[in-house]
Amino acid sequence: MTVRPILIYPEPRLKKVSRSVDVVNDELKKLASDMLDTMYDAPGVGLAAPQVGVLKRLIVLDCVKEEGAAPQPMVLFNPKVVWESEEKNVYEEGCLSIPEQYAEVERPAEVTVQWTDIEGAQHEATFDKLWATCVQHEIDHLDGKLFIDYLKPLKRQMITRRMVKVKRERARE
Ligand SMILES: [Zn+2]
Repeated sequence: MTVRPILIYPEPRLKKVSRSVDVVNDELKKLASDMLDTMYDAPGVGLAAPQVGVLKRLIVLDCVKEEGAAPQPMVLFNPKVVWESEEKNVYEEGCLSIPEQYAEVERPAEVTVQWTDIEGAQHEATFDKLWATCVQHEIDHLDGKLFIDYLKPLKRQMITRRMVKVKRERARE
C-alpha cells in the first residue's frame, strides 16, 4: 500500500489543465493503485491525479458509503461527460485538497461518462446520486476547477483565507 501526499489548496498545480493519457502503462497502473490507497486512507470518495501532483487525466472513485457494504473502486482514464440531465441535484461537497471545508454545490443530477479503464478498454455509463456529483467533481479537477469555484466570491475568499492559514500552520509543524 502506497499513500501519496495530497496537494493542499492554494496550490498552482490544482489550477492546471491535465493532459490526456495515450497508453495505460505500468507506471500509470501503479499511479491508479496508489491513488486508490490514498483515497481510502484519507478517507475520501474520489481523487484526481493532479491532487497528487500528476497532471494526467486520471480519476479514482468509490462512493459506497454504507457501513459494511462491499467497496466499489473505479479507475477512469480520460473521463469525459457526454450527456448531462437537465434535472439538478445539490450536495454538500468537500475536497481532500481543501480539508474540512464544505459547501453546497448544484450540478446535473445524472451524467453519462465515457472513459478508458485500467486494462485500456472503453466504457460508457450513467452515474446518479452521489456518484454523479463525485464524478463531475473529479473531472473538474482535470480542468483545474475546484468546487469552491462554484461558490459566491465572498464564500470562496473566506475558504481561501482559511486554507492559507492552515497551510502556514502546517508548514510550521
Ligand atoms: Zn476534490
